[in-house]
Amino acid sequence: MSIARFWRETPRRYNLGGSRCTEYGTVYFPPRPVCPACTRHRRSIEKMVAFQLSGSGEVLSYTIVHEAAEGFEMQVPYVVALVKTDEGPVLTGQVVDVEPDAVRIGLRVHATFRKLREEGAAGVIHYGYKFAPDDDRGIGGPPGERGPVPTPGGKAGQAKA
Ligand SMILES: [Zn+2]
Repeated sequence: MSIARFWRETPRRYNLGGSRCTEYGTVYFPPRPVCPACTRHRRSIEKMVAFQLSGSGEVLSYTIVHEAAEGFEMQVPYVVALVKTDEGPVLTGQVVDVEPDAVRIGLRVHATFRKLREEGAAGVIHYGYKFAPDDDRGIGGPPGERGPVPTPGGKAGQAKA
């Protein structure tokens, strides 16, 4: 992804801002300008409102990655999970602050903002959401108070479930 595109998308990456159809209550993330269900049923497309995801959800499935992608060399093994948010949308993200062996389907997690990777000699640092177990300490917070947390060294305990 280009840097320009990344920064254009950054506000919603930080905020987990999606959209919600007021006709059926379906939540979309990333936000959609129209609701596919309503469009299919010829309803109004003027029913979408901005919707803030809480970032909380549970692990739907996960993979332990042992072969690092470029830019992730220092982090293997790491866990990438599909997280079903409480509001409905399924997000993909790395699970942090937990031993890979302790991740399981159904684990309660919440989004937290972390350094994703550094890019090239310029040292451009990308931030985005990752997921941490709910029973850790000192990470996360109520919706609306989450911001960048550039402290990857802050290990918040072993979340054995
Ligand atoms: Zn709809």
